[in-house]
Amino acid sequence: MRFAFISDIHSNLEALERSLEKIDAMGVDHILCLGDIVGYGPYPNECVQLVRNRCTMSVQGNHDSGVTGETSIGKFTRFGQSAIQWTQEVLLAEHVEYLRSLPLVHTVADVTIVHSSPRRPHSWEYVFSWPDAQRCFANFSTGYCFLGHTHIPFVVSENGVFHSFSVGIRHLINVGSIGQARDGIPKASFGVLDTAKGSYENVRVEYDIERTVKAIHKANLPEYLGQRLFLGI
Ligand code: ZN
Repeated sequence: MRFAFISDIHSNLEALERSLEKIDAMGVDHILCLGDIVGYGPYPNECVQLVRNRCTMSVQGNHDSGVTGETSIGKFTRFGQSAIQWTQEVLLAEHVEYLRSLPLVHTVADVTIVHSSPRRPHSWEYVFSWPDAQRCFANFSTGYCFLGHTHIPFVVSENGVFHSFSVGIRHLINVGSIGQARDGIPKASFGVLDTAKGSYENVRVEYDIERTVKAIHKANLPEYLGQRLFLGI
């Protein structure tokens, strides 16, 4: 079985469309979304619609939960708050209901998906370090757990080895962000797992950042949300 994992799309349609093209070219059985479909970017309706059309399943991210009102807006940065308020004004009611309907954690085959952490998914904690990751392993029972939230891709095995993927050992994997890279590489990031071959790949895709930035400007969203995309921060 081949799975593609996309996360932290953040209403960046250009990045999502280019990523889906690449996923289609690679050939997968299922696309799973790890949340934060909306927030920050200028195309929330288009991105939610595409996820609904193309993904087998999605979990809810903190920005999705902010837009539905389930997570208090006070928990977000100034730029995050502006984008959530703007998204609340433009997002269709049926898409709001879809975001509200998403679970925090979902398991399919030998895979757990969650936005922030399997340990306390409702508190939106961040997994940055090995101690953070170590605490996660006790909180899922599958061979693989995929997450997003920090926008920084990583692979770590249960014995604490980073940046290598091997068969027969459990892994915690962050697939990075489709719509707002934060690792200094200004490209969309997603993951592809092949359970038959026992392989995992982090894939990076270029997209037209200029077009997204123009749309951010046109929507009157904070200019910084566009500028940071050029730098991948
Ligand atoms: Zn995010």
